[in-house]
Formats: sequence, C-alpha cells, structure tokens
Amino acid sequence: MEHLNKGIAQKVAIKGHVCVTGASGYVASWLVKRLLSSGYCVKGTVRDPGNYKKLEHLWQLEGAEERLQLVKADLMEEGSFDEAVMGCEGVFHTASPVLGANTDPKAEILDPAIKGTLNVLRSCKKNPYLKRVVLTSSSAAVRARDNFDPKIPLDESSWSCVDLCERLKIWYALAKTLAERSAWEFAKENDMDLVTVLPSFVIGPSLPRDLCSTASDVLALLKGDSENFSCHGRMGYVHIDDVARCHILVYEDATARGRYLCSSTVLENHELASLLGERYPLLPIPKRFESGWSSRRSYYEFNTIKLRSLGFKFKSVEEMFDDCIASLKEQGHSLKSEASLP
Ligand code: NAP
Repeated sequence: MEHLNKGIAQKVAIKGHVCVTGASGYVASWLVKRLLSSGYCVKGTVRDPGNYKKLEHLWQLEGAEERLQLVKADLMEEGSFDEAVMGCEGVFHTASPVLGANTDPKAEILDPAIKGTLNVLRSCKKNPYLKRVVLTSSSAAVRARDNFDPKIPLDESSWSCVDLCERLKIWYALAKTLAERSAWEFAKENDMDLVTVLPSFVIGPSLPRDLCSTASDVLALLKGDSENFSCHGRMGYVHIDDVARCHILVYEDATARGRYLCSSTVLENHELASLLGERYPLLPIPKRFESGWSSRRSYYEFNTIKLRSLGFKFKSVEEMFDDCIASLKEQGHSLKSEASLP
C-alpha cells in the first residue's frame, strides 16, 4: 500500500474548491484523500459532523487540517446541500445508500438515491461558481439486463432494465439506474455540465474503521464465508484508488463527456475463488460458491475503452486484494475464520 501514499507529504500546488457528498463513506473517503493530495480545498458533507470517531480518518488525512471542511447535509432534506456546494467549482456526488436486504426499499434506498440526487443537483444549480458535477453511479446501472448479446461487451451505451430490476427486486441496481437517469434529465434541462462514473465492485484499502457493506462482504469472504459473495455471481472488480483517480480525471479533463465505466476485470465467483486461493493459501478462501439466482446471470464483459482512451490505466485484481488485505490487517481485523478459532 506504500506506493499509494507516495508524494502525499510533498508540497502541492493549491487548486480550487470542490465538494464531496457523503465524505465519510468508503469510496468518498479515498476520493477526499486523493483530492487533498492533489491540492484541492475540499468541503465534505456528512450527516453528523460532531461524530469525531466516525470522521477521525478524514481529519488524519494529509492536508485535512488546512484544506478540509466538513458540513452537515442529508439527502432527504430539501436545500440541505445549498451551503456545502456554494462557492465550489466541482461537486462530486457520491452519497447514496449501499444496502443489501431491505424491509422498505423505497424509503431506505430508492428515495435517498433518486430524490437525494435531485436535491443535490438543485443545490448545485443555485451555485454560480459551479463548473462540473461528477456523479458516482454504478456498473449496476449498466449490467442488470437480459436482452443483450453476450459476445458484445457492455459499455456506456447500456442501461439496466427497470422492469427486470423491479421484477427481481434488485433495489440497488434500480436505485442507481433511476438516480443516474434523473440526473441526466436534470442536467439537460438545466444546461449543467455532468459526468458520471460507473464503478464495478470496489476493492482495496478502507479508510473508515467501520467497514461499509461491500468491504464487510470482502472480509467475510477472506475468512471463508462465501454466503454474501455467492449472490454477486459474475462481477466486475476495480481498485478503490482507480475509482478515486477516475473521478478526478473526468472532473479535470475538459474533454470528458457522458458516462465512464470504471472496471478492471470481470470474474465469475469460482474464478475469483481460485485466484484468491492460489495467492493467499493461508487464508480459508472458499473453494466453491453456492449457485443462487445470480449464477444464472448472462455472461458479460465490460468495454472500458472510453476511460482508457483518456490515458487511464487500471490496477490488477491482485493489487486490489493485496492492498485490501494489508489495510484490514493494519486496522486490526482478524482474517481467521470464526470456525477455526479455538
Ligand atoms: P458507503 O461507505 O456506505 O457510503 C455511502 C455514503 O452515503 C455514506 O457516507 C453515507 O453517509 C451516505 N448516505 C447514505 N444515505 C444518506 C443520506 N440520507 N444523506 C446523506 N448521506 C447519506 O458506500 P460506498 O461503497 O462508499 O458507496 C459510495 C458511492 O459509490 C455510492 O453512490 C455507491 O452507489 C457507489 N458505488 C459503490 C460501489 C462499491 O463497490 N462500494 C460500487 C459502485 C458504486 P453516512 O456515513 O452518514 O451513513
């Protein structure tokens, strides 16, 4: 992980003001780290700025003392982001619930994602300094379909099928698809410069001590529990540092337009299991996964030429997991399976 920190302690040229929504989250924290190390002044939104324990990792970032400000905002409160985005040239909207099983998908996922995105964009519209908004969407807004030719890799022209998501109750994919669609409509109607980033499953070091749901799934997998991972089926993977670098690249590159798929490698569960099993023979990586509905998912690949043509290079799956494991150990998470404990 050392290579990721290189250069951070060096003096950086100060850049403009940007806002990151949901700054304490897994992806956003790494984005804040990268923005600070590139010289930006960052206004991050959080739901509870007084919760020092939850935000400690942000205050410990290089440059945070001088150039990080945290302000309170909630996706479900109209006008809540007015203060946070005001004066910022760039807004990175990452805040969105990332949840699995839900009792009330509308209240828990759909409304915060869709209404919340429009709420943030309405605040952006009031800001005369705004140049560009970068929205964190997801590859889930591309791949939840059953009507495509598996021989043609999915690219940014593909949209997940709303009917299919509703029928199969894939609430997260539905939320990300409808949120991104709403954002594009809003941007068009309001002549707003919007670019979207669509990461696949994000792997890598976690700055927050409390692991988010995806990072918890990875920890469970490394400890030999395949239950949550079984449901992922065929999945694209991307390093968290690539996701942060991609957000900054498409913000800074004036030629960037539209959607950008951000995914390094697509693997079947069993391919991931054998890769991890060989690389980390001392960890109890499951040898096989239960075959649930997701194993009936169609074969697909991702075509990421659009991002790579901006000069972007992806890190490998091995680097993702090496960095993830190093970070879990550093944070004191045990990688021993519960079953093997005395
Ligand atoms: P995360 O750690 O759970 O972060 C989600 C963030 O959203 C948190 O900061 C959370 O704030 C905030 N949030 C949720 N509901 C909110 C509300 N009502 N008002 C204000 N903030 C709210 O998840 P993540 O993995 O970093 O996800 C960040 C973004 O990346 C999301 O848009 C997600 O869809 C996207 N993404 C993630 C992955 C992945 O594999 N992790 C892949 C593709 C796309 P609190 O801390 O206050 O709860």
